[in-house]
Amino acid sequence: MNALVMARIKLIPLVPGSDWRDLPNIQVHISDGSVTKKLRYKYNDKKNGLSSTGAFRGVCACAKGKPCNPSDRQFNTLIPWSLPHTGNRNNHWAGLYGRLEWDGFFSTTVTDPEPMGKQGRVLHPEQHRVVSVRECARSQGFPDTYRFFGQTLDKHRQVGNAVPPPLAKAIGLEIKNSILARLRESQTDASGN
Ligand SMILES: [Zn+2]
Repeated sequence: MNALVMARIKLIPLVPGSDWRDLPNIQVHISDGSVTKKLRYKYNDKKNGLSSTGAFRGVCACAKGKPCNPSDRQFNTLIPWSLPHTGNRNNHWAGLYGRLEWDGFFSTTVTDPEPMGKQGRVLHPEQHRVVSVRECARSQGFPDTYRFFGQTLDKHRQVGNAVPPPLAKAIGLEIKNSILARLRESQTDASGN
């Protein structure tokens, strides 16, 4: 995790359902010694209109129907520029930098729990970090005694690509039951009853 990603994670509120849209648009000192920039909304977003205070909401020329302008890209902002940029066609990127809920669902376990990933609801409910290998393993039903090997990323990949052990067990038991049922049937047929 780089310093900017860590700073964002720390500013995602400890409230169920929080995600990147709860990030404040402020300047903060981060651990690599730099200072974040405020995201500047320079264009009228034709689709969303103005904010409640009458401010612009677009971050690129494309918001007002023009082609993208590469110089509109902004860096080192707490609110990642790319998210409002393409949010209109991606359900506002709901869930990115999202916190898991103690009483909620654990969404699909991914091979790389990354806050900006395809499934970005990977922040611990009350700690400023992404979910651990063991937490993901539990979400897939692995017993805590199960060991994974390699670097952290390798372990996440093993967990994310796995068929959940309880599911594998249930399928195995069903196969066993149907084999036994078939056996019983053929014995009944053989005895002529
Ligand atoms: Zn654009």
